[in-house]
Amino acid sequence: MANSNIIRKNIVCPRCNETTEAALYTSVNVTARRDLRAQAMNESLFKWTCKNCGYTARLTYPVLYNDMKNRFMVYLIPKIEHFQLADKALEEEFKNLKHINKRIVPDFNSFKEKIFIFESGLDDMAVELTKLAISEAVAAKHNIPDVTEGYLSMYNSENNTMGFTYFVGEEKRPYVQSARLEIYGKSVSVVNELAVKDKNLKGFIRIDREWAENILYRYKRGRQVARRNAEQSKEEQE
Ligand SMILES: [Zn+2]
Repeated sequence: MANSNIIRKNIVCPRCNETTEAALYTSVNVTARRDLRAQAMNESLFKWTCKNCGYTARLTYPVLYNDMKNRFMVYLIPKIEHFQLADKALEEEFKNLKHINKRIVPDFNSFKEKIFIFESGLDDMAVELTKLAISEAVAAKHNIPDVTEGYLSMYNSENNTMGFTYFVGEEKRPYVQSARLEIYGKSVSVVNELAVKDKNLKGFIRIDREWAENILYRYKRGRQVARRNAEQSKEEQE
């Protein structure tokens, strides 16, 4: 298990050119340091303030977030486009951790969303699939071709609902759509059937909209084939 780790770096202020040392968390272990969880979620962990003029900036750099109690690790690697992490040393270090969800994410929003999903005890693959399916309904409602951005913003198992905040249209207007948990439940069974290979991968992987589109495509194609086969056997019987 990775402990919290800090590196120190001198950063030159873009406003006044003075240098201020920054403490960068390259690894955060919230099992041992619960306070770091709140700091990660409100992004103060990544904030840097110039000691001379007070200028503040959010620093963007790779951070590995560990929550062993909730059995997940999220590695924020700004702008990463790979499906799998290509860091052999890191893979080697964590390869024996069984039944731990290991994810890579390209930005702060998906970083925080993954933390929320796993803390809620949800399956992020099924959440992505649900988000995608509901985004199609939201797009239809607004009469636009698609809605590509959104995140899980609410989960309430007692009220049997989950909610997604989408960014709709060119102006990216936030729009909240809630859904019954049955839709999520359906996604869980689709994922359990079609994503067995990804579920068994030992490394860090990227589970996002693109991934969900692929699963949804395979699901729809599978249903078409099943329908065609059913029609064929009906014809043969007749
Ligand atoms: Zn400054």
